[in-house]
Amino acid sequence: MTPARSRDEALRADAADPLAAHRDRFAIPDDSLLYLDGNSLGRPPRAALERIGRVAAEDWAAGLVRSWAKWIDWPRRGGDRLAPLLGARPGEVVLADQTSVNLYKLASAAVAARPGRTAIVTDDANFPSDRYVLDGVAAASGLDVRVAASDPTEGTPTEVVADLLDDRVGLVSLSHAAYRSAALTDLAAVTAAAHDRGALVLWDLSHSAGVVPIDLGDAGADLAVGCTYKYLNGGPGAPAFLYVRADLQDELQQPIRGWFGHRDMFAFEPGYRPAAGVDRFTVGTPPILSLVAAEAGIESVAAAGIDAVRAKSVALTELIVDRHDAWLAPLGFTLGSPRDPARRGGHVAIRHSDAEAITTAAVASGVVADFRSPDSIRLAPSPLYTRFVDVWDACAALRDVVAAGEYRRSPARRRVP
Ligand SMILES: *Cc1c(COP(=O)(O)O)cnc(C)c1O
Repeated sequence: MTPARSRDEALRADAADPLAAHRDRFAIPDDSLLYLDGNSLGRPPRAALERIGRVAAEDWAAGLVRSWAKWIDWPRRGGDRLAPLLGARPGEVVLADQTSVNLYKLASAAVAARPGRTAIVTDDANFPSDRYVLDGVAAASGLDVRVAASDPTEGTPTEVVADLLDDRVGLVSLSHAAYRSAALTDLAAVTAAAHDRGALVLWDLSHSAGVVPIDLGDAGADLAVGCTYKYLNGGPGAPAFLYVRADLQDELQQPIRGWFGHRDMFAFEPGYRPAAGVDRFTVGTPPILSLVAAEAGIESVAAAGIDAVRAKSVALTELIVDRHDAWLAPLGFTLGSPRDPARRGGHVAIRHSDAEAITTAAVASGVVADFRSPDSIRLAPSPLYTRFVDVWDACAALRDVVAAGEYRRSPARRRVP
């Protein structure tokens, strides 16, 4: 499908969009807001808001502590709902904690399961929180961190990671889609390369879950984490997910020994015995109200089908790339994401030396995108509720903001040399 070349064509693309009806399933109080930040915080599904209200009134207010009899299964139930979107099987995914905490638990468990191996491999495109966590895990065990050099736009080729692998590497931990450029790492190829050298692989799926088809099972991936509040629309602070391949679950031990990960939590034994299965990677009381929202968010994507979501996502990002070339490149922008849609996740980064002030001015004019240091503006259409005409209008507004030069007077101005 060629991108729309006029606003009318964008409207026609919306009229022909098989996912168009999904927009009505979201609470959208201000229809004129051009929201291109669903990769930071997805819009709320109406079902999430309804269920939070219902669970608060019926389970919390009326059921009180008795409701734990059913609540206790919800982290697993949410994980099982998410599993098909990740190419995982029931019992391999659970909702718990934050992504950073899950990364810490699984990275620690992985390095402990590869004694004698002295290095962790990641790349310099990885999300800063992931880098901090991996550095901390390495420091605690006296390991080195080897950092693959990425291309800021195109991401990290498999060969660059493979070049860092040898039999001293116990763990490879990377993001599937880069948070800044949206460049995709080849999940299957990197997993295979790491396994060739006997290393475990831990993927962060935060920027691909819910927008890019993922097949952890087919790739033979060992471990994964990610958040539910981006393309999965799970709500602010919604619990993250973690995945541990079934045959690894009883071999790995995570470092935070909490009662929810105990084999018999209500026996209140003096000593810790890890639960069988994926439950051993949980720690403490789950956030129930956030968990219901996360589950509704996961269902919002599952109901549409990930292949349909991806097809529309590609069409939306192709429209952004086309408008970048036509309108924004002449104003000093360059593309900060792969041009090949097969290499790109759900958003498009555009780069400009004045990106921060332009983002501030764009938000003031009703286009919500976000700035990522040093010079990127991320435009993230979320296929379930972003229309083609929204992308058209957002790109036009961005063009007008830059052409008018108003942003140059912004107090937030911090140019990149
Ligand atoms: C958003 C994101 C996170 C979020 O981490 P939290 O600990 O859940 O706040 C982690 N990693 C990546 C790659 C992300 O994009």
